[in-house]
Amino acid sequence: MMGSLAAHQHVLTYLIQGFRSASLLVFIVAAFAPLEHFFAVRPAKMFHPGWLLNVGWYFVNGLSTVLLLGPPTALVAWAVHSLLPTAFTDAAGALPLAIRMIAAMVVGEIGFYWGHRLSHEWPLLWRFHAIHHSATHISVLVNARGHPVDIVFTRLCGLVLLYATGLASPVGPHPTLIPALVLFVGSLWSYFIHANVRWRLGFFEEVLASPAFHHWHHTLEDHKDRNYAAMLPVMDRVFGTFYLPEAWPEAYGTSTPVPDDLIGQLLNPFTAPPVAQAPPA
Ligand SMILES: [Zn+2]
Ligand SMILES: [Zn+2]
Repeated sequence: MMGSLAAHQHVLTYLIQGFRSASLLVFIVAAFAPLEHFFAVRPAKMFHPGWLLNVGWYFVNGLSTVLLLGPPTALVAWAVHSLLPTAFTDAAGALPLAIRMIAAMVVGEIGFYWGHRLSHEWPLLWRFHAIHHSATHISVLVNARGHPVDIVFTRLCGLVLLYATGLASPVGPHPTLIPALVLFVGSLWSYFIHANVRWRLGFFEEVLASPAFHHWHHTLEDHKDRNYAAMLPVMDRVFGTFYLPEAWPEAYGTSTPVPDDLIGQLLNPFTAPPVAQAPPA
């Protein structure tokens, strides 16, 4: 009886999460479809090849990432609490909230940058990250195309630094407010930088990642080992991977073989023969 009740609650939780994901998807499509129509880098049909696959990944990750990210994040929080002096982590926790949030965005971005860069440079991680780079048409929903292992790994890299510096400490009664905000803002911005929108932001492209900045990260040709930052291009300036000409990439994708269906992409990192990273530029 208890087991049946728990199973029903699980189903209900998934239904609610599925409804939330669907609502957010409608909002994202409604917000970006007009921009991608009127300001496209290159005109494209909304329902271009790969569109449905992106939507499939959107729901898979919407339902799995939070569950998969929870246990390792709790482990990191516990390890930091056990290993680091409380005085050290308390110092960051005492900062004014606005300062703490800005610091958390920067520190989280350092972790994300290296997690993302390692996902390109380590063949084992590239097997998973190649799924995201398999898109040959870059639009807002390509942001959702990513293997759960890849997404959890790069997010965890950012969260480890947030917890280790004490910036993720609870805010009043909200134990995970700062990491949740950092993930939420980063996720929203990630949709924008994938959009098929030709806007250039001038000087601000040095401060905040733009579609052109991230589109170059998806190029099929030269310079695909650049622009790893999600929000702050200064990371690529500091670590020597910044690349942002006036032109747009000619073509997108990867030379690593990746299946073109959802189940195939989900299983491929586990079953494919060893692959090297996409050939260097
Ligand atoms: Zn990448
Ligand atoms: Zn991307």
